[in-house]
Amino acid sequence: MTIDLHAHSAASDGTHAPAEVVARAAAAGVEVLALTDHDTVAGWDEASAALPPGLSLVPGMELSCQHDGRSLHLLGYLFDPAEAELSAELDRIRAARADRAEASVVRLRQLGADVTMDLVRGFAGDGEIGRPHLADALIAVGAVADRAVAFSDRWLAQGGRAHVTRYAADPVRAVRLINGAGGAAVLAHPRALGRRGYSFDDDLIEELAAAGLAGIEADHPDHAGPDRVRLRALAAALGLAVTGSSDDHGDRTGNRLGCESTTEADLRKLLDQTGGSMRTAER
Ligand code: AMP
Ligand code: ZN
Ligand code: FE
Ligand code: FE
Repeated sequence: MTIDLHAHSAASDGTHAPAEVVARAAAAGVEVLALTDHDTVAGWDEASAALPPGLSLVPGMELSCQHDGRSLHLLGYLFDPAEAELSAELDRIRAARADRAEASVVRLRQLGADVTMDLVRGFAGDGEIGRPHLADALIAVGAVADRAVAFSDRWLAQGGRAHVTRYAADPVRAVRLINGAGGAAVLAHPRALGRRGYSFDDDLIEELAAAGLAGIEADHPDHAGPDRVRLRALAAALGLAVTGSSDDHGDRTGNRLGCESTTEADLRKLLDQTGGSMRTAER
């Protein structure tokens, strides 16, 4: 059974509408899919309405956090998005995304790239705006050859020439907010070294576990084999679930829905900690 608990749609920086993500997941043989857009639940309803028989949806989100000045991603599942404290935090994070995009365009123009806010907004559409949309704009104006250069130190990488920091949540607080809204929290790709040049150590994972973390994403396309083994051992020691997920962004990552999977037992472990249930085809 293929259970993919991390995927993006055009509600944030994926390239396909939520209904298309669901259709592509079904076509890839996925039986349980979590839609986890960055800092938004805007895709949930469209995805739910588009569910074919045989595919269940776990409503989720990838929450932007920051630890020691480094960006950290926390997956939240089956929480109540209307819960007041969580919802206020999301408003704050989304406002920071919008402000950061504006500031980034100013910085990029100072660096000689002829990008505009309109161009960047065009790539984001109705979705939450992020660095991938800035990267698209840099490519469109010919300032960079490809995404890898756009995300290098010369441009948008954390600490890079055009990188602008933005507000993001404290991870311990974020775990508590997701739990307080009835959901389960899973630490996303803690050892994805390649893209970011840093990773989060066991101490932080232990701290998050003490705060109520429910699981660790061990099987992720950006995780090397030995790191996956280490994360599994850590999860076992801390009594946490282990997940495997594609982190698909459509054309931005190369469509790869279902390329990693979570076991049914681990999914059950997560669901049991929430007050919600998976969504299935309406009939
Ligand atoms: P943001 O949350 O707006 O700062 O953008 C972060 C997002 O950019 C991540 O979730 C990835 O989807 C994408 N990203 C980060 N680093 C890279 C990279 N090196 N190459 C391509 N995409 C990246
Ligand atoms: Zn993303
Ligand atoms: Fe992420
Ligand atoms: Fe992601």
